[in-house]
Amino acid sequence: MTKYIYEFGPKRTEGDATQKNLLGGKGANLAEMATLGLPVPPGFTISTECCNHYFDLGKRFPDTLEVEVTCAMENIEKQMDMKFGDKNNPLLVSCRSGARSSMPGMMETILNVGLCSTTIPGLIAKTGNEWFVFDAYRRLIMMYSDVVMEKAEQIKPADGMGIRLHLEMMMNNLKNDKGYDNDTDISTEDMKTLCARFKKKIHEYLNVEFPDDPQEQLMGAIGAVFKSWNGRRALSYRRIEHIPDNWGTAVNVQTMVFGNMGETSATGVAFSRDPATGNNTFYGEWLINAQGEDVVAGIRTPNPLNNDTKNSQNRHLPSLEEAMPKLYAQLFDIRNILEAHYRDMQDIEFTIQEGHLYMLQCRVGKRTATAALNMAMDMYEQGMIDEKTMVCRLDPKVLDDLLHPIVDPAVEKTAVKVVEGLPAGPGGAWGQIVFSSEDAVRWAKSDKRVILVREETNPEDIEGMRSAAAVLTARGGMTSHAALVARGWGKCCIVGAGAMKINTETKELRVGSRVFHEGDFITLNGTKGVVYEGRLKMKDALENPRFQQFMTIADSFRTMEVRTNVDTPEDAKIALGFGAQGIGLFRTEHMFYGSDSDHPLFLLRKMILSKSKEERQVALDELFPFVKQEISATLLVMDNLPVTLRLLDPPLHEFVPQSLENQQEIANALGIDLEEVLKRSALLKESNPMIGHRGVRLGITFPEITRMQVTAIFEACAELIQTGKHPLPEIMVPVTCNEKELEFTHKIVNECHGAILNKYGIQALPYQFGTMIEIPRAALIADKMAKYAQFFSFGTNDLTQMTFGFSRDDIGSFMNDYIDNAILSFDPFETLDQEAVGSLIEIAVERGRKTRPDIKLGICGEHGGDPASVMFCHRAGLSYVSCSPYRIPIARLAAAQAAILN
Ligand code: PEP
Ligand code: MG
Repeated sequence: MTKYIYEFGPKRTEGDATQKNLLGGKGANLAEMATLGLPVPPGFTISTECCNHYFDLGKRFPDTLEVEVTCAMENIEKQMDMKFGDKNNPLLVSCRSGARSSMPGMMETILNVGLCSTTIPGLIAKTGNEWFVFDAYRRLIMMYSDVVMEKAEQIKPADGMGIRLHLEMMMNNLKNDKGYDNDTDISTEDMKTLCARFKKKIHEYLNVEFPDDPQEQLMGAIGAVFKSWNGRRALSYRRIEHIPDNWGTAVNVQTMVFGNMGETSATGVAFSRDPATGNNTFYGEWLINAQGEDVVAGIRTPNPLNNDTKNSQNRHLPSLEEAMPKLYAQLFDIRNILEAHYRDMQDIEFTIQEGHLYMLQCRVGKRTATAALNMAMDMYEQGMIDEKTMVCRLDPKVLDDLLHPIVDPAVEKTAVKVVEGLPAGPGGAWGQIVFSSEDAVRWAKSDKRVILVREETNPEDIEGMRSAAAVLTARGGMTSHAALVARGWGKCCIVGAGAMKINTETKELRVGSRVFHEGDFITLNGTKGVVYEGRLKMKDALENPRFQQFMTIADSFRTMEVRTNVDTPEDAKIALGFGAQGIGLFRTEHMFYGSDSDHPLFLLRKMILSKSKEERQVALDELFPFVKQEISATLLVMDNLPVTLRLLDPPLHEFVPQSLENQQEIANALGIDLEEVLKRSALLKESNPMIGHRGVRLGITFPEITRMQVTAIFEACAELIQTGKHPLPEIMVPVTCNEKELEFTHKIVNECHGAILNKYGIQALPYQFGTMIEIPRAALIADKMAKYAQFFSFGTNDLTQMTFGFSRDDIGSFMNDYIDNAILSFDPFETLDQEAVGSLIEIAVERGRKTRPDIKLGICGEHGGDPASVMFCHRAGLSYVSCSPYRIPIARLAAAQAAILN
């Protein structure tokens, strides 16, 4: 019989923090905290395995579950000396989701389960607090009807509103009618009436009674939490974060403790260090007389936890340190215990019930990239963690944010301020205002940069937040769910800009007398929490000495080299600044794309459209000095470092002149008429240019093209050597699938090499000859390819294209459908498909080494800058990865972590 339930609490705990896969993050950490002796209300975790079985059984509980639940409930009842469903001394529980890795706000939670007509009078008698009981009941009704009765049943509201909105409207109307400012102002009688009206509305709207049986409520809540694993928000979040569908969520059933029992009760969220800056200060928010959802939902502006947490929005509110100093001291001790135990920044949830502190959650806290860097370095310097742990603390993906643009401080000084809020996500961003998630997605699809402006941060906005350059909200605190999400993504975000009045109907944003409309430009400084009018200039974040120090330590663990893909001397310089150890791919044909390349491009076209060998040779001779000059300049920048120069690999269709003017110019140059140019162009047209006359094939048909390029390379080298330089060229042949192609090309290279040694009268001109592996056939016959190739560079863009049979130029039309339907969990052009493309790489590595044990192996497809792919490359035994300049730090860190973790 499978065990589905694991208990936790002061008396009996079965799990621990290592069991996240089975118990989810929340369950595993509740167990760990209980074992540490912290005040955790007793409860139990239903495993993720049970969630998967529930779906396997067609959304039915396994037969043994209800009995297990009953036994576990009895154990809690004994510990609490209360009884679930009892009319005198009723126990209430919460049901919370908790996946392996945190998915803030993406799944469901139901509080106060067990309140019904039988238990309400008992709880009132026991607490002497009728208001509290009906406040708890109305919360149960609101959450339960929304989550269990509507969403879990997949009922699509006919009026587009949903039951929760209706109930919220009823509550707001009541507050307006009676002049109540806050929920806590509602009288007991009114709260009672509201509960009755709620239940009536539910019956009218959903055509079912609100359940009055505690056991039915409990099992309904457990099933609904399971179902929320496949809710819309959770699915979107999983796609974005590449979380597999088969992880499932656990359900945590836990004794309720109440932060809404009056002025000695409270609830809060805290971080053991500042998640925005990484400063070693306790950071958090809390609310008096409230339940946990109130803090994260952003309904009220939360109070600061302590002095360190005070800011312009909350300075007027008392801190927990001031209001409840003893409890604050206890919480502060717990913060220290948790940090010492986990040796990482913790995100904690707590509740104070009538002067007693309880811990409801702890987990590794999400943080900005800056905070991650600072915390890792601080904890290392304080001796809390070792070097290896420190290096692994920074997710390579977030390095982007560290190097991300900020609002130019010089421009910011004179910019017109619109409003201030809380700095929830780092860096700066400008964009056009939109007021809904749907608009953000739509505008972004048509290549507009948008700022999503919302009343409050709401997890339903996940897709829009993703599409927006930044997020701005009027309400909510630093720990609101969407602020957590934005921070996790390193997205610029400001929350709680309370002076904004948003009208989503008229699509207007008012601040005082100023009005902004949809489409107006604003700029956010997410590090300071300030919004400005218009589109301000951005600046690259200054090179941070601490970051350099961190990277130096990381580099000391790295065994793979990191090279770069660049095509100009200017980019080569930038890449050196980021730490490139050479060029892994210089795409020769790209020198014809850039600025100032009109003339060489014209010559290239002339060459392509030449008909006879003689005509072509004239064009090649004219082209030669341009090619040589560009290569020479690049080799000079990269002196003493390897530079992989790829022979021309132009998909010809990209270079054939399209405009009449260009066609006429070519006609004049070649001394032929326009008609003839059009005819020759038509002959070059291919149905599948990606697998057409490109790469090595071009050099097989026209060896003079290879000869021109190789001569340019060797002449450039010879001249550099004569001036005392040390060029290290590596000549690379693209799109090969047969060793004879290499034999053919190598012969030309050899001849040119001999000729240049003679011409310049030099003894040695070192170079390497190798090939890209881009076609599955080449990978499979790597042993033969290695007879000629001194190095392989895996061109995983084409290798992915040809392994999947997906055109790299056309995946936009179907890739999202593959992701949405969970056929693929990621885009294989972004992250290497280890299963098949990876297998081909492993085969090629093994077979290549059999022929040539010291063969040099690298990767130069886009995957060379993707952390997961870099990890794979390390395991596969490659000696370097090559990526675009801005991704070099990412690749360096990923390679260091790969070395540490393997
Ligand atoms: C590749 O195919 O992976 C590659 C690097 O070459 P290109 O992208 O130029 O085809
Ligand atoms: Mg390629």
